Parts: sequence; structure tokens; C-alpha cells
Amino acid sequence: MDHRVSRRTEILTNHLLRRAPPPSSVLQPHRCLSYSPPELSNGFAFDLREMRRLMDGHNLEDRDWLFSVIVQSALFNRRERAGRIFVCPDYNQSMEQQREATMRRIEYLVERGVFQGWLTGEGPGEELRKLALYEVIGMYDHSLAVKLGVHYFLWGGAVKFLGTKRHHDKWLSATENYDMKGCFALSELGHGSNVRGIETITTYDSNTGEFVVNTPCESGQKYWIGGADHATHTIVFSQLYINGSNQGVHAFIAQIRDSDGNICPNIRIADCGHKIGVNGVDNGRIWFDNVRIPRENLLNSVGDVSPTGEYLSDIKNVDQRFAAFLAPLTSGRVIIAATAVYISKISLAIAIRYALTRRAFSITPNGPEVLLLDYPSHQRRLLPLLAKVYAMSFSANDLKMMYVKRSPKSNKAIHIISSAYKATFTWNNIRTLQECREACGGQGVKSENRVGLFMGEFEMHSTFEGDNKVLMQQISKALFAEYVACQKQNKPFSGLGLEHMNKDLPVIPSHLTTPTIRSSEFQIDLFHLRERDLLRRFADEVSEYQSRGESKESAFILSYQLAEDLSRAFSERAILKTFMDAESTLPAGSLKNVLGLLRSLYAMISVDEDATFFRYGYLSTENAFVVRKEVPKLCAELRPHALALVSSFGIPDAFLSPIAYNWVDSNSWSSQL
Ligand SMILES: Cc1cc2nc3c(=O)[nH]c(=O)nc-3n(C[C@H](O)[C@H](O)[C@H](O)COP(=O)(O)OP(=O)(O)OC[C@H]3O[C@@H](n4cnc5c(N)ncnc54)[C@H](O)[C@@H]3O)c2cc1C
Repeated sequence: MDHRVSRRTEILTNHLLRRAPPPSSVLQPHRCLSYSPPELSNGFAFDLREMRRLMDGHNLEDRDWLFSVIVQSALFNRRERAGRIFVCPDYNQSMEQQREATMRRIEYLVERGVFQGWLTGEGPGEELRKLALYEVIGMYDHSLAVKLGVHYFLWGGAVKFLGTKRHHDKWLSATENYDMKGCFALSELGHGSNVRGIETITTYDSNTGEFVVNTPCESGQKYWIGGADHATHTIVFSQLYINGSNQGVHAFIAQIRDSDGNICPNIRIADCGHKIGVNGVDNGRIWFDNVRIPRENLLNSVGDVSPTGEYLSDIKNVDQRFAAFLAPLTSGRVIIAATAVYISKISLAIAIRYALTRRAFSITPNGPEVLLLDYPSHQRRLLPLLAKVYAMSFSANDLKMMYVKRSPKSNKAIHIISSAYKATFTWNNIRTLQECREACGGQGVKSENRVGLFMGEFEMHSTFEGDNKVLMQQISKALFAEYVACQKQNKPFSGLGLEHMNKDLPVIPSHLTTPTIRSSEFQIDLFHLRERDLLRRFADEVSEYQSRGESKESAFILSYQLAEDLSRAFSERAILKTFMDAESTLPAGSLKNVLGLLRSLYAMISVDEDATFFRYGYLSTENAFVVRKEVPKLCAELRPHALALVSSFGIPDAFLSPIAYNWVDSNSWSSQL
């Protein structure tokens, strides 16, 4: 240990005095690489704490408290590398060991009071604290986050939002304290995205006052149910038949294990097996064979059944009733979108810190090798992703604020925006992880460096809580409905950020210059133009298919290319707008200047990557070329701020990885001892 400390002091002194290290072995001294902390050569032009405050948006102290609660405990697999502590689960453990570790970690967090108020607390403040703490948990481990997400957001959320007082009194405190464990059984082998088609059947027996739940066939088995190996209770979604008439999908509470952990009679449970990630979560399958549950176990805020078997609901429309039952899934999309942004942040912080210390090739004979981040091509692969993650942080904060202040009037907008952000941020995260993995070269392959493992762990974000493609289809359908309603009723667009449709068509200058390209007015005009034109084209194409005799549903299906382009345009415009709104709150100064560069890079990379701008002529070929040339210029201007920008994420060292710091020392022979 002493030897390592003195070696580190020596390296640091050499850097500060800019002298070559003395020979320490038979190797030629000038050939030895030594680690130079990026902080020695990169200044900070703005206040990092202020930037972090903007990025995290809320509950910074709560986040820091939980970071330290995790780092303090041996349960979180602490390892020392080159004098630093890192925490990261051991994904090489067996599935059973990972599940056991997840449970021990949950018990520890329960003891430390992390979940207090998660279900019994009321108001935006409590909800924001919960979201902040959940984001920190996600940064440690996806399994831990998923397992807790199922228990608190899906099971707990369903009890809270679909249940009424009798359910709240019985279940909410017990759920919050983790005295009981809940799961959420919606998906089936045969129906995942199309949950409206689930096959589980529930009937009512008025002689006993009980519901009877049945899995009618193998495709109706509940599938992927997180927590199935530990849970005592589940929400079971099923088609409710009353007097032979199907009232649609309803949610019930069913006990599946007794307090000793024995599976209840008439229930069968099996595991889903090993997965490409989240093996710390017990995803399972459940069959119901004439399972009898009390009438009171119907979550009855949407619809109820009287003791005599009469179906009662204020919502007469079956579609609206179905939508109300899926409301707990909104919180799932909000937390997934926010978590995806934080995972991208960790990966970018690791890859950028590494690129600021790793050199490859000299461009002059005997000259020093070039830092990776000084290659324009390396800047081009990482800095636009950094700009996107900044943009998406603002949007995630905006979405969270909308969510915690939700009202019946805002629910539709929250559904559409959370769907757009969930799909866009998780796809962007997958791309960011791949690019960061490659940018770290061989080191990116090592498990301890996290980025590579994240790919397996978080790639599935694109599938659960709404398949991304299916969510994007819903957005374009919702925009279509707005368009048609405004046309038919001759009323202005209002909501979803579509008010720009009421104004004159934006005019794009025929010759773009750098100042124009970097102005937020031009950028938002260009994004408005794309969204507006794509919405009109999509509506026209759907109408054209309908005029040829296709049904509306089939016309939507056939117009999928424009639908996908439109939902992307909607999402990117919404993101740009939240960036501009955040910027507008800041006084002039260095922080605002850097954010201006990031916003321009976000806008221009989005243009450069989307062929619709050129396909439909929103930009001339000449202007498209000017935009393309602007991207490396913006990257070069952001390069000096790269370290400050990732340091502003406020992620503790322990949540990054050894290659983000002294990767020479952490791989030295002495560190193996
Ligand atoms: C790790 C994990 C944990 C999960 N946890 C839970 C849980 O706790 N509880 C629960 O109820 N469920 C859970 N799920 C299930 C999850 O919600 C579903 O897997 C998801 O909704 C997708 O359904 P599916 O798997 O049936 O895919 P499908 O719906 O069959 O989709 C397969 C493919 O078809 C495409 N597709 C579907 N419809 C269309 C269409 N209309 N047009 C074009 N393409 C289409 C999709 O884009 C997708 O690529 C979990 C899943 C996973 C992987």
C-alpha cells in the first residue's frame, strides 16, 4: 500500500513539474506511459454545482444521501482499485446468487428508511423525492431498480390508483414497509403489447361473493412477471365476464403465497429462466386454476361489481375504461425514461474521462501520441451524444414535473409525452452504450468498467412498459386525432406543443450561416416545419388509403413510414423546446454560453441524422452541407468543456469505473497483490 501511495505521489509530481519519470525497470523510461488526471489539464469555465443543479433538477441532497448509503455498505460489492472505491454488482454470479443479493440490498435499503413515504406520502415533493432516489438505485443496478419498480410503482401504484380506501387501508403501509411483496401480472405468453387481448378470465359467483380467476389455455399464462418467485400477492389483470357479457380488462388482487412462502392452492408458478440481463429479478410465469378471491379484491376505482353481481361503472365507454386501467403504467414510462438518461450519463462520463487520458498514435515522428478526445472523429462520436443527454435531462425533468403535478386534464398529454420520451431516451441510451463501449476499446469489454454490461442490462428498456415501436405508433395516432379534430371543428391547435401549427409556415433562409444555424429561433422553426409537414403528409396518406376503401386502422398500419417519421419529429421538437425553456431561465454568462453550444449541437446532429429534412426539402442540399460542416465545429468548441460537462453530472467516483480514473495504477502488478 505504501509503495502504491509513493508511486502515485511520484507520478503526480512528475506531471506537475512536467518531467519524465526516472527509470524503474529494464524498460526504456521514455516509453512508459503514466496516467495524468484530466483535471490537471482541463479547466472549468462554469460553475459545476450550478450545472448539476440544472441537470438533476431536484432533490440533490437526497440523491447524495442515497449514494453514500450505498457506498458505505459491503452488500453493494465494494471493490478498491488504485485507491478508489467502486460499487457494482457482480454479474458473474449465478442467477440465484444475484437474486439473493438483490433481496439483501432491498432489506438494507428498507432498514435505512429509503422507501418511507413512497406510497403513503402525498404531494409533488414526496413524489419527486421518490423519483430522485429511484434514479440513484437505477444507477447502481438495473435488477434492483426493476424489482423495486414492480413492487412500488406497478403493484403499489395499481393499489393506490386503481384501488379505493379499503385497498389503501389494507395494503399501502404494508407495501411501503416491504412487509408484504407484490407483483403485477398483466402480460401473457400470447399477449404483451396487445394487452387488451389477454385471455385470463374472471367470473363472479354471487352465491359466495367471490371472483373466480382462470387461465384458460397455455397462451394465457402470465409471463415475465417480476417478483413471481418472492411475491405473496399479485395484481392479476383479466377479462371480467358478468352474466356472460365481457366488461373488458379489470385488475384484481390475488394472494399467490402464504406468509411462509408456500404457493397457494390452485396457483402454479414457474420461472422464466436465465435472461440477457436483470438476472437479479425473479421473472416468472403464473397459472390460475379456478382461483377464488373475495369480491372486495377487485380494484374498483374504475368499475365495480355489486354483491348480487351487477356491473357498475361511471365510465360507460369500454375504451376509456381500458385506458384507465393502464394508468399505473405511466409512472413506469416516466422512471424508465429518466433512468435511461442517467445510464447514458454514467457511460459518457466513463468514456469521456478515458478519452481525456488515453493516447493513440503520434502525428509527428517521435512526437507525443494524440489524446483520443483530440481526434475530431472521437469528438464526433461522443460529444453529440453528450449534447443529447443534456437535452434529454431537461426533458426528463420537465416530464417529471408534469407527472407529479398531473390532473385529469393533463393525463392525455402525459401519456403521449411519456411514451415519446420513453422510446426516444431508451433507444438513445442503447446507441450511447454501444458507442461508449467501442470508444473505450478493449477496456470497454471489462465487466468492472460497466459500460459493456449496461448494454445487456438496459437494452430491454425498449420492450417493457410499452414496446418502443408500439408507443411511437400511439403518438402519431394521437397527433392525427388532434389534426382531424382541429380541421373538422375549425379550431386552433392547443396542447402537446402543437400551437406552432396555428402560425404562418416558418421560412428557412436560402443561405445558412453559422450565426443563423446557432440561433434557437432558426432551430425551432426548422423542427416546427418538419413536424407540421409530416403531420399533414401523414393525415393525407391515411385519408388516401381510406378513400381507397381501407379502414382507418389498416390505413394507419400502411402509413407506418410517415407515422414513424412524425413521432420522431414530435419527440425531437419537444426535447428541443424543453432545452430552450431551461436556457431561457439563466442569466447571460459562461454557463448559458456552453448550454447554447450544446443546444445547437443537439439540434444540428438531429437534423444531420434524419433524412426527412432532405427527403421533403426542408433544407436545400447546400444548406444540408452547411449544417453538416457545423457539427465538427461545435464539437471542437465543446471539447475544452468536456470534462466539466461530465463532472457536472454529480455522479460519485464509486458509480463510475476504474478506467475513468488511474487505469495504469488500477491495472499495475502491485494492485493485484
Ligand atoms: C425483463 C422483463 C420484465 C417484465 N416484467 C413484467 C411484469 O412485471 N409484468 C408484466 O405484466 N409484464 C412484464 N413484462 C412483459 C413486457 O411488458 C412485454 O414483454 C412487452 O409488453 C412486449 O410484449 P411481448 O413480449 O409480448 O412482445 P410483442 O407484443 O409480441 O412484440 C414483439 C414485436 O412485435 C412488434 N409489434 C407488436 N405489435 C405491433 C404492431 N401493432 N405493429 C408493428 N409491430 C408490432 C413489437 O414492436 C415487437 O418488436 C416484462 C418483460 C421483460 C422482458
